[in-house]
Amino acid sequence: MNKDKSLDYSLNEFASLLQKSSDIVIDRYAHLVGAKAYAGLTPKEVESWFNEPVPEQGMEPAKLLDLVKEKVVDTATLNIGPNMYAYVMAGGTQVSILAELLASSINQNVGKWHLAPVMSELEKRVVQWGGQFIGYGDAAGGVLVSGGSAANLTGLTVARNVFLESENVRKSGLFGFKPLIIYASDEVHGCIDKSVELLGIGSDNFRKIPTHSDFIIDLEALEHQILLDIENGKRPFCIIGNAGTVNTGAIDPLDRLADLADKYNLWYHIDGAYGGLAAAVDDLRKKYKGIERADSIAIDFHKWLYQPFEAGCTLVKNWDQLNRTFYKRAAYLDTDTKTDQRFDFNEHHFQLSRNAKALKIWMSFKAYGAEVIRACIEKDIRLTKYLADQITQSQDFELCNIPDLSVACFRYLGTDPNMPQATIDQLNKLIIPELEADGRVFITGTSLQNRPVIRACLINHRLQQENIDFLLKVIREVGVKAEGKLKVAG
Ligand SMILES: *Cc1c(COP(=O)(O)O)cnc(C)c1O
Repeated sequence: MNKDKSLDYSLNEFASLLQKSSDIVIDRYAHLVGAKAYAGLTPKEVESWFNEPVPEQGMEPAKLLDLVKEKVVDTATLNIGPNMYAYVMAGGTQVSILAELLASSINQNVGKWHLAPVMSELEKRVVQWGGQFIGYGDAAGGVLVSGGSAANLTGLTVARNVFLESENVRKSGLFGFKPLIIYASDEVHGCIDKSVELLGIGSDNFRKIPTHSDFIIDLEALEHQILLDIENGKRPFCIIGNAGTVNTGAIDPLDRLADLADKYNLWYHIDGAYGGLAAAVDDLRKKYKGIERADSIAIDFHKWLYQPFEAGCTLVKNWDQLNRTFYKRAAYLDTDTKTDQRFDFNEHHFQLSRNAKALKIWMSFKAYGAEVIRACIEKDIRLTKYLADQITQSQDFELCNIPDLSVACFRYLGTDPNMPQATIDQLNKLIIPELEADGRVFITGTSLQNRPVIRACLINHRLQQENIDFLLKVIREVGVKAEGKLKVAG
């Protein structure tokens, strides 16, 4: 009997394709050491590989996997490898590779409880675990989102809708309100600017408060600004604390910020996308004091829980606030006919269809345990201190921040002790693209107090001390060459 077409392979063929896929994975992991961190591809080259119209005929899936191995897997920027220091790139956990495969294979939609009963409960569970891990408390509500940017936007959306609930902001929008003012330090992440604009608050109403030399918010300047805004007829609305800035890992005085938020009746949001999960480390508890007082927190499981992208999380004080922010009735979602305590995530977030991010997070906590995860975070921090020590003890590098977490910023000083600051600036700008072209390590730069610096973020459970030594060796080699280029250019 001839059956109509489906997209399935025979079970035998599917099994052999799964096997082939896992062979590709194993081959990649077998060759992490010594592999280039960056492949040095050009957009033109990569575009040319895929430049064809929609294929009318399908290809042999085994051949397709060969193509994917060659063009996609083996050329990938080695975020998973031990020579990645750029941005905030965690290495990904192997148990999450298994989780993502299994989660896709059952294609759950975590929008409605009965479409994904177990994944819905797992998501509630890992949200709770996130709160417990960082000391935010057991009653927290929350939702898994794509990452830190979405977690901040979600938290600030709850902030706006709950803060102005009695004034019906969901119905009337922000028209008719006095300008709402948001406060954060000038080291705040750029995704907050995006949130402020997306929420209709406007960047003119986002106050960037100056920081001290340790990149921590100036509390006096903050309070002064709040008073000034009140005096000028504005409406202070929200303070955002950094639990680890992306530039240097600086942790704002979270407890003192909570005091100010209390004093002026403001919403208190914490951006813990980078550093929030490090609150679980015993030695850092003091630094994070006050985190439990936040009304909302953004954390990023694809950072210090080492998850493969994407996995962010917004935490708020209770589930009800999410419902009050996002719930909308719709006949086709039969929200009226609930017979038991089913928790529908679509009633607690703006997305309806949602993938099952919870499985990889749940499996990671189960497979490794919180103790080992904390130990990996501690190791990242210890290795960062090692890097900072090597820099301090050297003649040709200068340390630009004292790392509490796992970001070290520094400058390469070159071989000439009389090099003027302006030339050192040029050198440290030039060295970043030169290091990318070299490709042995992947590291990027930033600007601190208006000077270009090299920025290393160590957030990879595969990192070892010898990798740090290799990093400095490569920067020196590339730095000497870059200095030569500058001299030739005059
Ligand atoms: C990474 C980061 C973000 C953005 O998170 P994404 O997951 O990249 O969207 C926001 N804030 C801080 C402090 C970060 O480090």
